[in-house]
Amino acid sequence: MADEQKKKSGFFSDLFAPVGGFGVTFSTMFRKVITEEYPEEKRPTQPRFHGRHQLNRHPDGLEKCVGCELCAWACPADAILVEGAGNDDSEGGSGRFSPGERYGRVYQINYLRCIFCGLCIEACPTRALTMTNEYELADNNRADLIFTKDQLLAPVQAGMLTPPFPMAPGMEERDYYLGKVSAATDAQRAYVAEHAHSTDAEVTS
Ligand code: SF4
Ligand code: SF4
Repeated sequence: MADEQKKKSGFFSDLFAPVGGFGVTFSTMFRKVITEEYPEEKRPTQPRFHGRHQLNRHPDGLEKCVGCELCAWACPADAILVEGAGNDDSEGGSGRFSPGERYGRVYQINYLRCIFCGLCIEACPTRALTMTNEYELADNNRADLIFTKDQLLAPVQAGMLTPPFPMAPGMEERDYYLGKVSAATDAQRAYVAEHAHSTDAEVTS
């Protein structure tokens, strides 16, 4: 009896053996086809996906980065270069780019080194540095993968001005972090308009 059953199962397994290897093929043929139409259709990332970095601004447009270099020291891949400089409000000085004493004059991130671990954004004391969801960072040469400050800075939005310009009248550095500044003031606008005008005059003279 046992021999007969063994003989039967041997017969059927021998019968289907030539098509047995196509099992996965046949089952896949009737599944819904999922074609990724990238780059025409981009798949949304998770909200906290670690993508390209961004250097943020205060609501009036001044930069949040104070050039402290903590992000560079925290980076395990040595991907960040920061050179801080002092804000100079004096007449004829270089001007003010951030509230307080210093700002990040040079800021670079080398995306050939970055492993997107996020330690730099954890280290940043002013929340100047955050990470966006942007993941399209491939290129065909090394130089273009070293992002500079102008590429990393957040765009100037409504209510903001492009630095340099003084802090909002009557405000101190800490007031910016207490949320007391919500947009550029008329005095700041007047300063930027005046200095833009004087720069144009210097260029045309
Ligand atoms: S995400 Fe990580 S590797 Fe990339 S710059 Fe920040 S600390 Fe360095
Ligand atoms: S991004 Fe943050 S941690 Fe890095 S230099 Fe600027 S303020 Fe300091």
